[in-house]
Amino acid sequence: MKRIAVDMDEVMADVAPKLLEAFVEIVGRRPAPEEFRGQKLYHLPEAKLVRKVLFERGFFADLPVMEGAREGIAELQRHYEVFIVTAATEFRNSLEDKFDWLDRHFPNIPWKNRVFCGDKSIVQADYMIDDHPHNLEVFQGKGILFTAYHNVDEHRFERVDDWEQVLEFFRKERQK
Ligand SMILES: [Mg+2]
Repeated sequence: MKRIAVDMDEVMADVAPKLLEAFVEIVGRRPAPEEFRGQKLYHLPEAKLVRKVLFERGFFADLPVMEGAREGIAELQRHYEVFIVTAATEFRNSLEDKFDWLDRHFPNIPWKNRVFCGDKSIVQADYMIDDHPHNLEVFQGKGILFTAYHNVDEHRFERVDDWEQVLEFFRKERQK
């Protein structure tokens, strides 16, 4: 069976709305969408402080599941070995939060298929689904870019906008 490495944040878990609320609370105003198009919200000059919420215990614990992710992962598991590959060591508290989040929402992903790492270039698989171009740049297999507000201007990778398109991509792959 071929292996797929699936990212968590912005692919399985919807981080952007919670981060936006943190921005509003900390910076004291609501940014217009065009202000953070093509970049991470906390890279805005006034928002350095917003990034600190990512270090807080619990930030990653209650994120909503991305639409279609549950059904999408289940479908992929019928045809592939699915590994969750998430960068979790930069924000040490995210590690436990993410593990618990998977238990709650994706209990069918066994612990052996959960890879909590730092640099994803260590990962070997046939496919990687990720919203960060820098992870796909160093990946040896086929990289698939999952659309997020910060990557809309990226054109080097095959792009999917949602989980329906993920499944469509893999249906086509299997017909090759
Ligand atoms: Mg991500």
